[in-house]
Amino acid sequence: MNQPQRSINGITVNAFSSWDDILDRVGCDPKLYVAVNAEKIIAAPQEIRDAINANIGYCDGAGSVMAMKQKGVKDVARLPGCELWLKIIERYHQQGWKFYIVGANPQVHAATIEKLQQEYPGINIVGHRDGYLKDDAERQALIDDVASTQPDAVFVAMGSPKQERLMRDMQQRHTAVYVGLGGSYDVYTGAVPRAPLWWQRHGLEFMYRFLRQPSRWRRQLHYIPFMWKYITRQL
Ligand code: UDP
Repeated sequence: MNQPQRSINGITVNAFSSWDDILDRVGCDPKLYVAVNAEKIIAAPQEIRDAINANIGYCDGAGSVMAMKQKGVKDVARLPGCELWLKIIERYHQQGWKFYIVGANPQVHAATIEKLQQEYPGINIVGHRDGYLKDDAERQALIDDVASTQPDAVFVAMGSPKQERLMRDMQQRHTAVYVGLGGSYDVYTGAVPRAPLWWQRHGLEFMYRFLRQPSRWRRQLHYIPFMWKYITRQL
């Protein structure tokens, strides 16, 4: 069942060879599934590294696939987080799984729930809320609700590291499959366009996002130390 693993700059990453490979694991190993990309490899704070290492990191970006290959793993697929959650729903919603949906602004959040109900008739969403938690009391109420509704899978789209912190705290109260999704609901509802296939296939999705949302430039700077460490084999 267990896939090959490598430590990349202190983050343990699992080499899943295909969608079926990760979906089989999701079905029998309820943990946090954390998308690992160049940015996390370089910049994730230690508490997030610890959470990934205690759970399941997978290759969401072209950078993590390159690093795995450099470390001798041949059969590793890039599995973007923005597709993983939908594949989990596709495979498991007819098997009676219960889902909990968290994240994005109130408009995108509402549109996400509506679209899921249209695309997956009968989907069992046991709870949901947008990602803008005003205070600790709201955060705690959300964690309590997840514990009491007992979902099989919880999707949290709030950006990193906020979503990983929240999922880690939820996991302490209730065991389930947790997937952090960043801006995936924005893409799902069409609020933000996804990179065209050519960019995706050439490992340039990050560049497309940068060109569409130049305000992300600070985050893209992490690719420079990433490439340096890759070229000098220090990852
Ligand atoms: N977001 C949220 N709560 C917050 C901050 C952000 O729900 O407190 C949402 C935001 O609306 C967007 C997503 O989190 O949908 C962040 O997307 P981003 O592109 O930054 O994430 P990435 O995919 O790069 O991790």
